[in-house]
Amino acid sequence: AKYVYSFGGKTADGDGKMKDLLGGKGANLAEMCKIGIPVPPGFTITTEVCAAYYEQGKKIPEAAVPQIDEALKKVEAEFGKKFGDPSDPLLVSVRSGAALSMPGMMNTILNLGLTDASVEGVAHKTGNPRFAYDSYRRLIDMFGSTAMGLEHEHFEHELHSMKHAKGVKLDTDLSADDLKELVKRYKAVYKKDVGEDFPQDPKKQLYLAINAVFNSWNGNKAIEYRRIERITGLKGTAVNVQAMVFGNMGNTSGTGVAFTRDPNTGENVFYGDYLINAQGEDVVAGIRTPEPIAKLHEDMPKVYEQLVGIRAALEKHYKEMQDIEFTVQEGVLYMLQTRTGKRTGSAAVRIAVEMANEKLIDETTAVKRVAPDSLNHLLQPQLDPKSKVEIVAQGIAASPGGASGIVLLSAQAVVDHAAKHPSDAIMLVRKETSPEDVAGMHLAKGILTSTGGKASHAAVVARGWGKPCVVGCEAMKIDEAAQTISIAGKTVKAGEFITINGTTGDVMIGKVPTVAPSMTGDFATLMTWADKVRKLKIRTNADSPADAAKAREFGAQGIGLCRTEHMFFGKDRIAAVREMILAPDVAGREKALAKIEPFQRADFVGLFEVMDGLPVTIRLLDPPLHEFLPQKDNVAGAEEVAKQTGTTVEKIFERVEELHEMNPMMGFRGCRLPLVFPEIGDMQVRAIIEAAIEVKKKGKSVLPEIMIPLVGVVEELIILKKRAIAVAEECMKAAGVQVEYQIGTMIELPRACIAADKIAEEAEFFSFGTNDLTQMTFGFSRDDIKGFMPTYLKDKILPIDPFQTIDFNGVGELMKIGIQKGRASRTAKHNQHLKIGICGEHGGDPDSVMFCHAIGMDYVSCSPFRVPIARLAAAQAAL
Ligand code: ADP
Ligand code: MG
Ligand code: MG
Repeated sequence: AKYVYSFGGKTADGDGKMKDLLGGKGANLAEMCKIGIPVPPGFTITTEVCAAYYEQGKKIPEAAVPQIDEALKKVEAEFGKKFGDPSDPLLVSVRSGAALSMPGMMNTILNLGLTDASVEGVAHKTGNPRFAYDSYRRLIDMFGSTAMGLEHEHFEHELHSMKHAKGVKLDTDLSADDLKELVKRYKAVYKKDVGEDFPQDPKKQLYLAINAVFNSWNGNKAIEYRRIERITGLKGTAVNVQAMVFGNMGNTSGTGVAFTRDPNTGENVFYGDYLINAQGEDVVAGIRTPEPIAKLHEDMPKVYEQLVGIRAALEKHYKEMQDIEFTVQEGVLYMLQTRTGKRTGSAAVRIAVEMANEKLIDETTAVKRVAPDSLNHLLQPQLDPKSKVEIVAQGIAASPGGASGIVLLSAQAVVDHAAKHPSDAIMLVRKETSPEDVAGMHLAKGILTSTGGKASHAAVVARGWGKPCVVGCEAMKIDEAAQTISIAGKTVKAGEFITINGTTGDVMIGKVPTVAPSMTGDFATLMTWADKVRKLKIRTNADSPADAAKAREFGAQGIGLCRTEHMFFGKDRIAAVREMILAPDVAGREKALAKIEPFQRADFVGLFEVMDGLPVTIRLLDPPLHEFLPQKDNVAGAEEVAKQTGTTVEKIFERVEELHEMNPMMGFRGCRLPLVFPEIGDMQVRAIIEAAIEVKKKGKSVLPEIMIPLVGVVEELIILKKRAIAVAEECMKAAGVQVEYQIGTMIELPRACIAADKIAEEAEFFSFGTNDLTQMTFGFSRDDIKGFMPTYLKDKILPIDPFQTIDFNGVGELMKIGIQKGRASRTAKHNQHLKIGICGEHGGDPDSVMFCHAIGMDYVSCSPFRVPIARLAAAQAAL
C-alpha cells in the first residue's frame, strides 16, 4: 500500500481532493505544487498510517518506514541538501494535519535535523551564525515542548533572563554568541526535564516527531474538540514533513499570513500581516507587532508582486477565498499553506455575490456558499465593532445581536417604565422568565437571565422575536430587594446601563452603540438568486402588524402562524381576558368576551392590511387558561387582578386552584378549550371574519386561514369546523360581503399523524406544530429537558436536540406518514392538493427546512428574523 505521498517541484503524488487521506494541509500542498506555485518539497504520511499506528499499539507500521526514508531521499534530491549532512544539512518541518483543521493537535516543529555538529555547518555555510543558533534554540524548544511534552515556559524563562541580562527587548537584538549560549541553556533544560540529552541523530528526531503527531490525535484536547464539534469518521491525522525555508535569515527574509479577501467585511482586498526576519508562528504569537501586507510592497516590491499574482492564481484555481501562509528566504517566496478562509456572515455574503459577479463562480454556487445560519450576523443589530468594550461576564449566547439598556428586574417594571418613557432602551434582567413576563420581554431591547439554557423560555421567546438574549449568566447575582445586580465584583443598580452580546454571550457594564440590520446590497442580491431555485414557500410566525411588516420586508410570503394568545396579553385587554376566565358561567364569559372582541378584530385588521394579498393563518387560542392568571404564590399579582376585575384575591386563588393541572402541556388546552367553551372560539372566528370583511371593503385582498390547534381525532375538527362555518356565514350575511377563508388544523399529536387520512377529509390545510409534536412523540416536556438533555447529547443517545432540529427518524417519520396519508385521502375525496406547512421553531432551522423540502411540504413558517435564513436553506435544499 502507498503510505507516503511526495510533493515538490511542480508535481505531487496527491492532489487537493485527497483530504481524507492526506489531511487538508497535505492535500493543498500537493495541489499548489501541481498548479505551479512555489512550495518547499516534502511528503505526507497518510491518515491511514495514523489509524494503523493505533491498531498496532502505537507503532509506526513497518511497511511505512522504507517509504518514509525513500520520500526523504526525494526531498534531498529536489532540494539539493542531505538530511543529517553536518556541513550543509537539509532541515525539515514536521506538521500535523487532519481532514478538518483541529485545535488541540500537535504544534508544528521547525528546523528539525539540526544537531550540535550541523549547527556549526549551517553557521559556516550561510556565514550567518546568528541565524544558525537562533534556529537551533527554536528546535530544542519546539521539539521539547511539543514532541516531548516539556513546559515551554522553562525555555521562555531562559530566553527572558538572557534578554534581561543583555538589556535588550527583542529576540532579534540578541547576538550570535548570546544565542549560542542560549542553546546550551536550552539543552540543559531539555536534559533536566527529559532525563536524556537532546537527540543528536536527525532520524531519531524525525521519528520521535512523527510519533508525537500521531499521539496528539488522541490527546485530550483533540478528543474534546471532536466531541464538541461532533466530528466522527476521520481516520486520523496525516503528518507533513517538508524542507525548511527560513524567514529568519535577515532583512531580506520574513514570514506572513494573509487572506485573499477581508474575512470580516468580505471586501476584495488583500488582507494580512507579515514580519521581517522572523520564523513560523512569530506573526500570530505577538512577539513583535507585524506589518500590514500592503507594506510589503515597500519592503520587498518583487516578492509583493509575486504574492499578489499567487493570490489571484489561488482564487482562480480554488474559486474560493483562501487563507494562506508564506515565507520569504533571502528574497525568494515560498507558499506553506492554503485553505478555505473562515469568515463572518457578512463577509460570506459579500464574497459569494462578488465572486459570482466576477464570473469566478455561478449564481447557484454563490447560493450554496453561504451557510444559512451565518445570515444571523446580518439580521441583528450589532454592537458597533469599532467600540471598545470590557467583558465582565459570559453567559450562554441564546439569541444573536447586541443590545444596551437600563437594567430593570421584573417584567412589570419594564411595562411600567415603558409606559412612561417609551423610547428608553430597557434590559430585562431576571433569574429566568415565564409566560407571565412576555409583555415586559417584548418591550425590552434585550433579555439577560442568570439561569437557563438555549431552550429556556427566555431563549426561545427572544429568538422568536429576534431579540438579543443571553441566558445562564451564572456569574451574575440578582438582589431584587436592593434593586441591584452584581457581576464580577461590580454592582449595577436598576436604571443603570448594561450591554449584552447575544451572538457571543458577552455581558458588559455600561452602554455600547449598535448598528442596525437591513436587507440591501449583496444580501438582497443573494436572496433573489436563492428565490429563483427554491421550491418551498416561506411564511412567518407573526402576531403584530410590525412583525408582519418586518417579515414581508425580509421576503415572507404569508403568515403561517399568528398566535392569538399573545394578543390576549395586551395591556388594554388582559383585564377582560382574566374576567372571562374568572367568570362562573356562560353569560359572564360572553360579557367579558364582548369586551375582548373589538381588540381582537382590530388586531386582525392590522395583520390583514399589512399582508394584503398573502395568506394569514390564525390559530385559535391554544394555551391552558391558567397561564393568564397570576401564579399561586403571587399575592401582589392577584391583588392587582382583583382590582382590575372587581373580584377578591380569594376568588382568584380559588379559580387558580381549580385550573391547576399536573401537566398543563397535556391538559385543558388547544381545541379542547372551544369544545368546552364554544363562546371563546365563536368570538375569535367572528373577529377574524369581520376583520377580513372590513379589510376587503377597503379594496385589499384577504386570505384568512383559521387554524385549530391540538386536534387528535377528526370529530374534534368536525364539531369546531361546523361551528366556525356557521359563525362565518352569519357574519358574511350580516355584512353582505363574502370573503374566502379556509379552516385547517395543526398536526401536532402523534395520533393526528397516524389518523391524518381521516383528518384530511375535513381539514383544508395541515400545519405541523413540531414543538408539540416533538414533545408528545418523545414524551419530553420541552420545558423540563434541562436535567437530562445534556447527558443525552454528551452520551450520543440523541445526535442533536430534537427541539432544535427535527428528529428525522422518529418525529420526521410521523410527519411523513401524516403527509402521505393526508394527501392520499385528499386526492380521492376532494381531487385537490392538500396544502401542508410547518410552524414550529424548526421552520427556521436550516437542517429542518431541508427535511421539509425533502418530504414535500408546501411551505415553512418561521420568525420574521429567520425568514431570509429559511429562504436560503430552502434554496440549498432544492440544489
Ligand atoms: P498550523 O496548522 O498551526 O497552521 P503549520 O503546520 O501551518 O501549523 O505551521 C505553522 C507555521 O510554521 C507555518 O505558518 C510556517 O510559518 C511555519 N512552517 C511550517 N513548515 C515550514 C517550512 N517547511 N519552512 C518554513 N516555515 C515553515
Ligand atoms: Mg498553518
Ligand atoms: Mg402546539
